[in-house]
Amino acid sequence: MGKKRRGRDRLLTCESCGRAVPRTKAVEYYKRQVYSTDLKGEENVTTFTGRNVYYCISCAKHRKIFEKNKERARREKERGQRP
Ligand SMILES: [Zn+2]
Repeated sequence: MGKKRRGRDRLLTCESCGRAVPRTKAVEYYKRQVYSTDLKGEENVTTFTGRNVYYCISCAKHRKIFEKNKERARREKERGQRP
């Protein structure tokens, strides 16, 4: 008995073109956002937040998301290996 569930793949929305992309084909990218009050001195507050966004394959290619993810992975690996 094979459990084959076809169809109902979870759909995500491409951040760039708005197309619906199946979960398996979407490219995940962690988008960093920086909020700053732009005040000089002690009162300045900078907050780093981020969220995961998803792109379809063609947008990911166009926006070089693959390279960015690869580069990020490489950097994280290097950092982890350093004593
Ligand atoms: Zn797209």
